[in-house]
Amino acid sequence: MFNKILIANRGEIACRIIQTAHRLGIKCVAVYSEADRNARHVALADEAFLIGPAPSRESYLRVEKIIEVAKQSGAEAVHPGYGFLSENAAFAEALAANGITFIGPPVGAIEAMGSKSAAKQIMEKAGVPLVPGYHGDDQRVDLIKREAERCGYPVLLKAVAGGGGKGMRVVWKAEEFEAAFDAARREGESSFGNGDLLVEKYLTKPRHVELQVFADQHGNAVYLGDRDCSVQRRHQKVIEEAPAPNIPAEVRRAMGEAAVNAARAINYEGAGTVEFLYDEDGSFYFMEMNTRLQVEHPVTELVTGQDLVEWQLLVAAGGTLPLTQEQIRLDGHSLEVRVYAEDPDADFMPATGRLDYLRTPTESHHVRVDTGVVEGDVVSHYYDPMIAKLIVWDENREQALRRLSQALADYRICGVKTNLGFLAQLAASPAFRSFSVDTGFIDKHNSELFRADEIDEQRYIALAATYLTLARKQQALNPDDPSSPFNRLNDWRLNANYARTLELIHADKHHPVTVLEDDRHYLIHVDNTEYRVNATLDGDKLDATLNGHRFSLAIHQQEQQLTLFHDGTVFECARHQPQWDDGEGQHEGSLAAPMTGTVVAVLCEAGAQVKAGDGLIVIEAMKMEQTISAPFDGTVTEVFFVPGDLVDGGAELIALERMEAKA
Ligand code: ADP
Repeated sequence: MFNKILIANRGEIACRIIQTAHRLGIKCVAVYSEADRNARHVALADEAFLIGPAPSRESYLRVEKIIEVAKQSGAEAVHPGYGFLSENAAFAEALAANGITFIGPPVGAIEAMGSKSAAKQIMEKAGVPLVPGYHGDDQRVDLIKREAERCGYPVLLKAVAGGGGKGMRVVWKAEEFEAAFDAARREGESSFGNGDLLVEKYLTKPRHVELQVFADQHGNAVYLGDRDCSVQRRHQKVIEEAPAPNIPAEVRRAMGEAAVNAARAINYEGAGTVEFLYDEDGSFYFMEMNTRLQVEHPVTELVTGQDLVEWQLLVAAGGTLPLTQEQIRLDGHSLEVRVYAEDPDADFMPATGRLDYLRTPTESHHVRVDTGVVEGDVVSHYYDPMIAKLIVWDENREQALRRLSQALADYRICGVKTNLGFLAQLAASPAFRSFSVDTGFIDKHNSELFRADEIDEQRYIALAATYLTLARKQQALNPDDPSSPFNRLNDWRLNANYARTLELIHADKHHPVTVLEDDRHYLIHVDNTEYRVNATLDGDKLDATLNGHRFSLAIHQQEQQLTLFHDGTVFECARHQPQWDDGEGQHEGSLAAPMTGTVVAVLCEAGAQVKAGDGLIVIEAMKMEQTISAPFDGTVTEVFFVPGDLVDGGAELIALERMEAKA
């Protein structure tokens, strides 16, 4: 086994590889770009080398630089992860030329599978079923069009060098052919430097089912079960699971054997994935083979109990496969979701920003989180916007789905838009739960998946107000911080009807709130609805009993911005900051003077009936005027000052008697 390896990657996969290597006592060398100086993978590694500026071309894709670092650090082998140089034959070749082991397949296998059309030719010879189509070298448009007609529309044009869903065009009828052909060709040229296309029958309701294969240098090859990755957006996977549901055992076995044949056909070594399109009628067709560890490998690990990175290291070091086909057992069901910084409501556009607040679900043998970021990290536009992979396992699919929903509810992120809410809807959707799934799933269930949940705004506003009240009180009582401006608040409980008002904004709508406290609870009025709340706050966790219903939620406050996380619902609101507020804001609207100043106007008189929100008295301080308004409907019983009077901060200005609701 190796003593030291270099990981030519970043993010979660670099961290994932380091974890296994360390468990096996192997030292790890990380490489990083200027943008990743403080990245988690750098911190986890035993040593790390800066290899260039943020853009991948100038760092993670620099073959020569990475080889230089490998030599300098004494690494005996390089793990490429996925993406970047993982399927780059020239990189594997250059490593070999320098006496460094590539933890991946032989150069020939990468090359053979690097072109979708060449791969198909090989698979055809090996007897692996193909989607009807044309994958020849003759690229004349009329020839390919004739082939398209032979398959029958709709057809799919694919750039032979394509990947990541790019360079693909569905053609529904002959009239659209030429335009689609030109577009796919251009995309192939610009993205992959190769405009060659292949055409195949477009299956309208296929599933994406893939087989994990493994081969060693001694002629052994096995498959470690299958995965379903049908739920996709823009031809990219969103949720993956193992085993693929609802496949007859004999078809499963046939696919596994076809996959092993595919691997053998190219003298494969190491981890590989053979992707199939699986049709409704149980037939399956070879799509492509990925010659690397896949993003979604953890679901296979959780159902087989194997560590695939360990297998990769073993095989690369010349060892034999740890298990034979007969020894490979599948147990239970596993699902993985990819947590992305993106905006599902804007066609899943990647998002960037700082992870201001990041809480992950507790890990256990049911829940695993593979991630490369920590709170405070920035998701930049330089790299893939994946924040983490959340993987769950349980004895069956139904229970695993329940785990997934729970874990998603416990995943909390502020600062960057994410697909967490979308994933929660997906995991809960009846169609997904009953597995009515094909690759068109997201489009078909659009209305269900993007439904804005009806949420009880006022209820969440009341909880936000409860949080603000408790948080302020905690700060006021914090003896460690005598300079806290909130310390002036120790008169908080002086009288039972002490009221505060504040204003919270949600979705551009202003909600006036009053908080009344007595010894046992808060009475919170939001608009005209009253909530009786009991609550305790512990860090970011609020345990609340609201009108007799007890539950917990988590709250993150970033300046005036509040985010409430409750059982998968994420509610955002902001505190309205009145102009006079100097940032402390501890007295806004109370019937006490918010600060030392001068009374400039009295807007009511003793005996007046006032409504919540009516202005009662105006105070000026530091050239700013502040109107103190009634926190509730009531009767003014006394006014303690007249215009021109100087008042001390905290002095009671007006006595207001609450109007009791008449029976
Ligand atoms: P890439 O290499 O860009 O990921 P693939 O060939 O793996 O491209 O295809 C990506 C996805 O496109 C598949 O998972 C599937 O959803 C869809 N797809 C590919 N080929 C077909 C086909 N012949 N019919 C229907 N859908 C297809």
